[in-house]
Amino acid sequence: MDKIASPPTLITAMIAPAQVMRGQGAIAQAAEAIARLGQRPLVIGGDRTLKAVRTQLQPVLQQQAMAAVEASYGADCSEASLAALREAIAQHQADLIIGVGGGKALDAAKLVAHQTSLPIVTIPTSGATCAAWTALSNVYSDEGAFLYDVALPRCPDLLILDYDLVQTATPRTLIAGIGDAIAKWYEASVSSGHSERTFLIAAVQQARVLRDLLFQKSADALRSPGSDTWQDVVDATVLLAGVIGGIGGAQCRTVAAHAVHNGLTHLTQSHGTLHGEKVAYGILVQLRLEEMVQGNRLASSARQQLLQFYSEIGLPKTLSDLGLADVTIAQLQHAAEVACASSSDIHRLPFAVTPAHLMAAMVSTIAPIADSWSPDAGTGRSPDETISPGGSQPTHPSSFLLHPFPPEVAE
Ligand SMILES: [Zn+2]
Repeated sequence: MDKIASPPTLITAMIAPAQVMRGQGAIAQAAEAIARLGQRPLVIGGDRTLKAVRTQLQPVLQQQAMAAVEASYGADCSEASLAALREAIAQHQADLIIGVGGGKALDAAKLVAHQTSLPIVTIPTSGATCAAWTALSNVYSDEGAFLYDVALPRCPDLLILDYDLVQTATPRTLIAGIGDAIAKWYEASVSSGHSERTFLIAAVQQARVLRDLLFQKSADALRSPGSDTWQDVVDATVLLAGVIGGIGGAQCRTVAAHAVHNGLTHLTQSHGTLHGEKVAYGILVQLRLEEMVQGNRLASSARQQLLQFYSEIGLPKTLSDLGLADVTIAQLQHAAEVACASSSDIHRLPFAVTPAHLMAAMVSTIAPIADSWSPDAGTGRSPDETISPGGSQPTHPSSFLLHPFPPEVAE
């Protein structure tokens, strides 16, 4: 927390893409905006996403007489795949990168664009992450284990959010995006909730707005893909989640939810689940840690509220929901040790966490709420007043109140 209180004297802001175009059929209207950035694009995506976008993107590139070539990022955003993409860029003498796909494809496209000093257009094909927006790339091993992230010097030059394209993705991707987006609140309120810095207060506030919006609209959105409500939720997971990362910057860090995700990626059995699904489970683990280690009753009520929300929209609540029912103690320990590495953001929690604590939390995410807390017990955590998901009753009296944030400033 001291680190947050004394920021470096120079902070570079990478808040947003230079241009964002969004709408139904947005790609078809983006020809001139793309052409302003280059004439020889390398289109980077996964095999499925390249195919999904081809019918919309090719006519646009042809209309501007661009010499475009496609390249698959392979199995993961790994150092080997990045090297192959740099080779493809050199061969094609590309002067522009167009990244198409989900988090890993876009992370690979953004990172090679940075490494080769080329402009970058991002076209998300699902609502699963805010990778199309952010100045950050995650690098994985060829086997899919999270290795490290790279902070990029700027956000993309152009982001094209085409709702027609996003609607072709499976609903599961948007559900995962909702899990990843709500994590912003649970993590930012811990890492930056006590900050008095203007941009951090703004970022944490927006994280709460984002979470409340998703609590209110997600179930309706998933019932009616393509509707206005669905577009609102896509805007939330792809764009607003990115805004928060942009405003908060490097000081508005992830905490335990993403650390748990990072640990789980080291178990091959977890590779069938999406980033946001593991992160969503990680939020429950983080809250459970706050309950168990800190005796935080607000964390307990927040967890009960999330369990209800997860049931409503289909996010995983347990290891078993993540396809890890058969994980061994040794494997769980390995994931917990990775998540508790000295460089891990899990140590931004306001108490010490050991792999043993973490393992206990990981297997008890659906534990019933403890009834031994007194109503006026201290919480030691930022307030977590919420509006209730789907208009149902809150599990804790305070969970319905909408307080200004942070209370020390507002009251
Ligand atoms: Zn994430």
